[in-house]
Amino acid sequence: MLAAMSERTESRKQRAARRAGEFPPAPEPLPRPVLDSHTHLDITVSEYGVPLRAPRSPAEDGSGGTAADPVAAAIEVAAAVGVDRLVQVGVDVDSSRWGAEVAGRYPAVLATVALHPNEAPRLADLDEALRQIEALAAHDRVRGIGETGMDFFRTGDEGRAAQEESFRAHVAIAKRYGKALVVHDRDAHADVLRILDDEGAPDTVVLHCFSGDAEFAAECVRRGYLLSYAGTVTFGSAGALREAAALTPIDQILVETDAPYLTPMPHRGRPNASYLIPLTVRSLAATTGADLDELCAAVSATGDRVFGPW
Ligand SMILES: [Zn+2]
Ligand SMILES: [Zn+2]
Repeated sequence: MLAAMSERTESRKQRAARRAGEFPPAPEPLPRPVLDSHTHLDITVSEYGVPLRAPRSPAEDGSGGTAADPVAAAIEVAAAVGVDRLVQVGVDVDSSRWGAEVAGRYPAVLATVALHPNEAPRLADLDEALRQIEALAAHDRVRGIGETGMDFFRTGDEGRAAQEESFRAHVAIAKRYGKALVVHDRDAHADVLRILDDEGAPDTVVLHCFSGDAEFAAECVRRGYLLSYAGTVTFGSAGALREAAALTPIDQILVETDAPYLTPMPHRGRPNASYLIPLTVRSLAATTGADLDELCAAVSATGDRVFGPW
């Protein structure tokens, strides 16, 4: 009775605010397995808890309200809808080390290691941090160097030199270890291409959360880069991005969450996790005109080619 009353007296706005922090329900499973090519499990679990699992009471398991193994739970929830592999992406030395350890422990997880372009300008000793990333790059379960790149959205002119130095160093590490380069490019398309040309791009380059238009996509396709599409491709305002997706050859497409960010429609604004990839894959199939089965098979094969075998 009391619960029913408070339910009724809660305003629409209050209800929306409460639900904003909750994981959306699981979508319909995919007909064939795919991967999440870019996720931040550490940030997702620490900020929002375990996807789709109600927090246990501290009395129940003594863990202070979180599930005993949040990473295993997140993997299990994703696998249940056909997302059976994921790539854990590092953004600084600590998260890169964590990712390498987790990838060593769970067969469904591979890792990439790097200093994020927003992190590089903040470091007191960039060279030392790069040495630590390079040491992690040798790990067998680390299959990519990223996310590195350029981000002119949050970094002013003064940060750009450090960002570029860091990006160039990551390109060199990727080439030395023969691993994929995972590029973060925000408002910096021309500079990303300039630096890749200047350094000489590694054999495998993934543009994560691809955000360009058709013209930039065509340029990346011509160079043989992989374009990884995130939940942004489902947003109503993303017409130019859908044009880019429509001209990307099916064997150069990857899909990702970038979780906990960029949750696909119709759940934009709520936390993201790997189990929501089916929403992005279905949207991409509609945009590109590809058969859903065929798109899943292609994305899965590309994931294995770029990062695998798991
Ligand atoms: Zn990024
Ligand atoms: Zn990311």
